[in-house]
Amino acid sequence: MADPEYDYLLKIILIGDAGVGKTFLLSRYINEELPRKKGPTIGVEFATKSICLANGGVVKAQIWDTAGTERFKAITSAHYRKSVGALVVYDVTVRDTFLHVKKWLDELREHGEPGIVVTLVGNKVDLVKDDPSLRQVTTEEAQKFATKNDLLFEESSAIEDINVKLIFENLLQKVYDVK
Ligand code: GDP
Ligand code: MG
Repeated sequence: MADPEYDYLLKIILIGDAGVGKTFLLSRYINEELPRKKGPTIGVEFATKSICLANGGVVKAQIWDTAGTERFKAITSAHYRKSVGALVVYDVTVRDTFLHVKKWLDELREHGEPGIVVTLVGNKVDLVKDDPSLRQVTTEEAQKFATKNDLLFEESSAIEDINVKLIFENLLQKVYDVK
């Protein structure tokens, strides 16, 4: 089937430490299912999806995964080139992945496009629902960091499908609105 007409093709990138759930979030959003295989994605560069936004706009999102290259700090500048939005993902149960967000924002500033819209995403909230003691990053702390750095912010679960659609579509909406 041919793609429907769209107003903009928008490149969105996923960044963040290995293991935080970037590929799961993308897969959940694109396919409404989870990746079949375990382990880091190798080779997949991006996935596309056409979306009708709440304001009536239609966009085609081209969402780039890291293909596992963040593991050896080998994300290429092609990953960042021409991106208009980014999800910077951490794992709410692994504090280091939150502490590294600053480093990912520096990478974005260095290699990304000026004016890129960024959402901070605290993934794996399903794990802390049953056992709050697993949480290593509070919502308040992350929200404060996001506000200070002019980022959108949301917590998510790719496994339980919490906020996944909302996160991608709010980001796309904001990118659309500033275009
Ligand atoms: P990536 O390296 O950032 O792409 O991370 P992946 O998407 O490959 O996810 C790494 C692992 O974390 C997967 O094997 C999943 O089992 C797990 N995972 C991903 N998202 C979630 C989530 O929302 N909740 C839980 N409990 N586990 C998740
Ligand atoms: Mg991955």
